[in-house]
Amino acid sequence: MSGARTNGSGPPAQGGVKVQNVKLVLLGDQGVGKSSIALRFVRGEFTENSEATVGAAFLTQVVNISQQSIKFDIWDTAGQERYHSLAPMYYRGAQAAVVVYDITSQKSFTRAVSWIKELKQQANSQIVILLTGNKADRAADHRKVSKDEGQRLAEENNLIFTECSAKTGMSVGEIFMSIAQTMARHGVPSPEKDAGKSVKLEKDSGKKGCC
Ligand code: GDP
Repeated sequence: MSGARTNGSGPPAQGGVKVQNVKLVLLGDQGVGKSSIALRFVRGEFTENSEATVGAAFLTQVVNISQQSIKFDIWDTAGQERYHSLAPMYYRGAQAAVVVYDITSQKSFTRAVSWIKELKQQANSQIVILLTGNKADRAADHRKVSKDEGQRLAEENNLIFTECSAKTGMSVGEIFMSIAQTMARHGVPSPEKDAGKSVKLEKDSGKKGCC
């Protein structure tokens, strides 16, 4: 997170509250729970054995925060390596990114490190990045990545950090609320021009859109 921000503008909502659109991308290894976090946040649902996302899926949700409404356009990307080349299409122009790892998988943490590096090099220079360790409900018996490790990585890269559980709902709302609060304080990053255009959605088993 760096650089000056412009105050983003959007259409006035009823009651004079401005609605600001924010493009948010979820990144992380396959199976870390990106879709589950999005579905928990948007629909309040959790599915034990959800299908993998193909390409990317799209959801929206509004967060209201002191005289401001932020409408998150959430792009849930596929974690499989074969879709990696599509990722820039989603994170370019994104104003926020949530990098997800699974606290029970060291490999997913290593992958999160490379996503952060890639975002720092190639995404919008003003992007707000939050790092989250999901599956915190499994911490007692299956934890492989300590909370300190996550916190340290976030501090080194000037990111917001939280652990969460899409299964129990723990801290999922906080992820989006923290991003909204950061934007309320510093302004919404202006979207960069060429990014994330014309993404075609098709249906995969009726569950999620894909590109
Ligand atoms: P994605 O590939 O990153 O989108 O991951 P999914 O959302 O598809 O989740 C992968 C698997 O992890 C599914 O079987 C989910 O039910 C499970 N899962 C997701 N979040 C959690 C969580 O917070 N706790 C637990 N125990 N399982 C989860």
